[in-house]
Amino acid sequence: MTFLHQKYHKLTPYTPGEQVDEQAVIKLNTNESPYPPAPSVQAAVADAAHKLNRYSDIAVAAVTTPLAAYLGVTPAQLFLGNGSDEVLSYLFQGFTENGIAFPDVTYGFYQVYSALYQVAATVVPLQEDFSIALTDYDSLKGTFIFANPNAPTGVYQEQSEICAFLKRHPDRLVIVDEAYIDFGGTSMVSLIDQYPNLLVVGTFSKSRQLAGARLGFAIANEGLIQDLNRLKFSLNPYNVNSLTQAAGAAVLQEQAYVDEKIQATIHVREWSKQALAKLGFEQTDSQGNFLFARHPAIAGEELYQALKEQKIFVRWFNQPRIKEYLRITVGTRAQMERLMTVLTTIIEEVKE
Ligand SMILES: *Cc1c(COP(=O)(O)O)cnc(C)c1O
Repeated sequence: MTFLHQKYHKLTPYTPGEQVDEQAVIKLNTNESPYPPAPSVQAAVADAAHKLNRYSDIAVAAVTTPLAAYLGVTPAQLFLGNGSDEVLSYLFQGFTENGIAFPDVTYGFYQVYSALYQVAATVVPLQEDFSIALTDYDSLKGTFIFANPNAPTGVYQEQSEICAFLKRHPDRLVIVDEAYIDFGGTSMVSLIDQYPNLLVVGTFSKSRQLAGARLGFAIANEGLIQDLNRLKFSLNPYNVNSLTQAAGAAVLQEQAYVDEKIQATIHVREWSKQALAKLGFEQTDSQGNFLFARHPAIAGEELYQALKEQKIFVRWFNQPRIKEYLRITVGTRAQMERLMTVLTTIIEEVKE
């Protein structure tokens, strides 16, 4: 017997990468930053703990004001969420009356939220090279969402093509999920005044060392942001807790630290691509903080398990088209060197 409404009986929840004890393993499975937040960020959170008896600021002003300045938008063009997952949740709930379309290989939550909110979703196959043919979406109606760079492929879609799509479809909302934009590509944020149908989603989880704090955002014209707020204030006005607000405000004072870690990740990513290529891997030219690769001699699942036995956690998706691939988060240089050593051994064993 169940008390759950029958409309949820077939819901398949999102499958996150495993969270494991970091002392014992190398964790390259959830695209987090391998670096801790700057010391000042940690101190700001400790300081904010004194005021936990009070509710958090519903306007999230401590983050909104400096983030708007950093992005070159007005505070009224910005919405803060409990992770970008919450922002995406509001978008699927409230902005999909005419359905939604997204690629077959992309962020898993798009499918999960479509099911949760019972939105008519059209899933469009990526091209053979995992790029998005935006013209495939021309004949559809309703909202269009994609990640740029895409996950888990890392493939980046050129801005000019997105602008052309926005122009062709002024009556359709286009959501660009820029979770990984700090690692490659050009953000669409500067174009929100030009395109009232554009909404950009961002996060502090990948490039700002705050995955555990849960802080994400949306940037769009004021009207769209007001509509998002209508949903937020109807569900959870205190959606960003005060410790997270303190962390977010502090990390925005640490742009030099953040930039240094982004550059380090890009550097290690490019080194890792070369190392994987030498080992015979085929891969995309990932622009994210992760690699997307397959080896012609070993099945994806087998490689995933073999790495796990050696205490290296990566992500394998039991999904059509990408079954043979692994998504490997770019860790520190030392972690990636260890990964390559272990991979070398595994591949040699297969050859024997
Ligand atoms: C990680 C990720 C998110 C979610 O980020 P949070 O802000 O931690 O909720 C959203 N979209 C994509 C494409 C991601 O990879």
